Amino acid sequence: METDQILKDIQAFQLVLKRFEDDTVEQEGRLSFLLKQKEKKSQEHEEATEKIIQVKNKINDLEHKLAGCDTAISNSSKVIESSTSQKEIEIAENKIKLSLEQKESLEEEILELLDREEKLIEDRANQATFISGISETIDEVKSEINTIIKSNDNEIKAMEEKIHGLTHELPTQVQNSFMIAHKKHGFQKSLSQLKGTLCGVCKREQTRDVVKEVQEGQFHLCSGCQRLLHK
Ligand SMILES: [Zn+2]
Repeated sequence: METDQILKDIQAFQLVLKRFEDDTVEQEGRLSFLLKQKEKKSQEHEEATEKIIQVKNKINDLEHKLAGCDTAISNSSKVIESSTSQKEIEIAENKIKLSLEQKESLEEEILELLDREEKLIEDRANQATFISGISETIDEVKSEINTIIKSNDNEIKAMEEKIHGLTHELPTQVQNSFMIAHKKHGFQKSLSQLKGTLCGVCKREQTRDVVKEVQEGQFHLCSGCQRLLHK
């Protein structure tokens, strides 16, 4: 086979190989997207659990204060019933008034917290449903992706073998130059056709010797872009 045909074939196989590699990356991306979503929701679920505990503690605390108000009211009531001192009765009446006001605001606060607790519990249940759903999806996708990646790996291996075989058919000097070009350009075009005295890709003017030898069928690396120049 002509050297330039071998090079073109290698490049074509490299492109096929890259498509399989890209597909594998894409499949892994699909999975990691799902895993991130699950992680995010799990974190929200944990946070909701913590918040529920905090709200419960706060409600407990307020209920204790509420009980304290009731005790204060009952004590003051006893003073009013038993005392004969107008002054003491007045003080007790004021205490009752204050305690009632306090109770009202505590009860309001407790109601708000109960609403909040209810909302948090509802959120947490939704999060749990989401997590269990996405976990199932992840398991399905994982097994699906494993099959695809395994098949991609086989294709990649086959391409690598073909490329390897073809590379060995190249003259050693071309082999080395092509490896340099391929290393630099990867799966982008690593070949460049000489156009007159210029590199077809980067337009760098080539020396007279290089132009002559390429026209005679030899291969040279372009001094500008390090692609393998061919006629
Ligand atoms: Zn060039």
